[in-house]
Amino acid sequence: MAKEKKKMPAKKKATPKAPTKKKANVVVKEPVFKVSKKTPQTLRGFKDILPIDEKFWNYIRDKVRAIAYDYGYDRIDLPLLEDTNLFIRSVGKDTDIVGKEMFAFQDRGGDNVSLRPEATASVARAYINHGMLNLPQPIRTYYIGPMFRYERPQSGRYRQFNQFGFEAIGDIHPVLDAQLIILTYKFFEELGIPVNIQINSIGCPDCRKEYKTQLVNYYKTQKSDLCDDCKVRMTKNPLRLLDCKEEKCIAIAEDAPHILDWLCDECKNHFVKVLEFIDETEIPYNLNSSLVRGLDYYTKTVFEVWPESKDKKAQNALGGGGRYDNLVEMLGGRPTPAVGMAIGIERTILKLKELELEVPEKEIPDIFVAQLGEAAKRKCLGLFEDLRKEGFKVAESFAKDGLKNQLDIADKLKVKYALILGQKELSEETILLRDMDGGVQETVNYSKVIKELKKRLGK
Ligand code: AMP
Repeated sequence: MAKEKKKMPAKKKATPKAPTKKKANVVVKEPVFKVSKKTPQTLRGFKDILPIDEKFWNYIRDKVRAIAYDYGYDRIDLPLLEDTNLFIRSVGKDTDIVGKEMFAFQDRGGDNVSLRPEATASVARAYINHGMLNLPQPIRTYYIGPMFRYERPQSGRYRQFNQFGFEAIGDIHPVLDAQLIILTYKFFEELGIPVNIQINSIGCPDCRKEYKTQLVNYYKTQKSDLCDDCKVRMTKNPLRLLDCKEEKCIAIAEDAPHILDWLCDECKNHFVKVLEFIDETEIPYNLNSSLVRGLDYYTKTVFEVWPESKDKKAQNALGGGGRYDNLVEMLGGRPTPAVGMAIGIERTILKLKELELEVPEKEIPDIFVAQLGEAAKRKCLGLFEDLRKEGFKVAESFAKDGLKNQLDIADKLKVKYALILGQKELSEETILLRDMDGGVQETVNYSKVIKELKKRLGK
């Protein structure tokens, strides 16, 4: 035994780890893997989107694609994980989204990364990275995809949710703001969801500076009645004092100075023009002086889409957007004005359901292929492909054997015709064509069945 032991290979020295690109003072925490016997569940605030809801998602995505096509926006797909700095420099480190809600962590190389909480910053990054300023301006682009925010989950508020957004980068003309708002309104109008657009202008950094001083002076006189968050906002992010949801703070905000009274001439003119363009279209909107939006990059026009209901809480907003004329420059690009919006897909679907609006059903298959016996099953696999190639939408249940079982499924699918292939038909080179409405069956020559179906289904 002792000898054998000696023969065993000497204990290997630990393989030197690949050098990791560590940042100064960065200690990368290894994840702790604990195995539990319980069936894993989705994380809090994360949801499975099930096939039963597919029709809603398809409907929204199709509508987004159609609107994008009509208004000349091209699709962009961006990474879900970005350098954390991107969001700190754009959305702002003192905003709720960056300060409290980001899924931010260090990757195995020690880089600070975040699951994107929104996508406008990524679009602006991509605009700079790919030299899009050399293309005809404005660049019009849209995205659809998941965003991540560590928020307190509740109805219509999740930690992973989906947005689509439209961005027009590279032109300052107010007609772009107006058309984006029109497009947003039309999206909801065409779905049948009544909405009201809330609009405001938060000016540029110059006029906002003066306004912020006025605002803070006013809030100083009310400080003892403010909620704790607002006391912090007074120094960190005074504009957000205006959209605090605490009842006592809402009352205080009502008497706060209005930013529209402090806009510089350029911002005022821009805003007036935006409204004039929108007025051409009879789209209902409200001037809302406490609308500020939660992100640092906004300038001039800001807007939100509120569902038309008695419940006027902004947290039920279906979407929002605005101008962000300094964002590209904030990220290291040339000064480039831009305007965009983002709409929450889950909230839109909740509204469709709540209002019981009609959503296109899944397409009903044209034909069901039923089979009896092993040889027929094999032949039907090929028949399925032949029919599919001819452009029919075909259903089957090849894993089942009994005819009744298969026809029950065809019935549930509301299929118009079923083809039935059994031993007898196989040997006679025929197939049964069954009209599922009345149950009438006829024998058709196998080689002629596709032609016959084309005739009957008008293909
Ligand atoms: P924001 O980027 O905060 O302006 O959000 C735009 C839209 O995205 C909102 O109006 C919502 O429809 C949707 N949204 C934002 N946060 C969430 C969330 N946590 N869960 C579900 N939808 C959200």
